[in-house]
Amino acid sequence: MSKVLDAVVPDVIDYCANEECGAEIFAGQPVTKIGHELVCSGKCLMQKLGAVTIIAGREAAAQ
Ligand SMILES: [Zn+2]
Repeated sequence: MSKVLDAVVPDVIDYCANEECGAEIFAGQPVTKIGHELVCSGKCLMQKLGAVTIIAGREAAAQ
């Protein structure tokens, strides 16, 4: 009985617009839209926009 595998495969509708991520985006997944592009997470949104998280007052990026 091998009916387990094909029941759980969601449709891939796009890929994360953050080039460093490129994760598959599935139908029904909550995502963030930038123009016509989709990103998979808030972190990818930040990277896509060129924003980085730093410690205020220091030069080095915190990631
Ligand atoms: Zn992503």
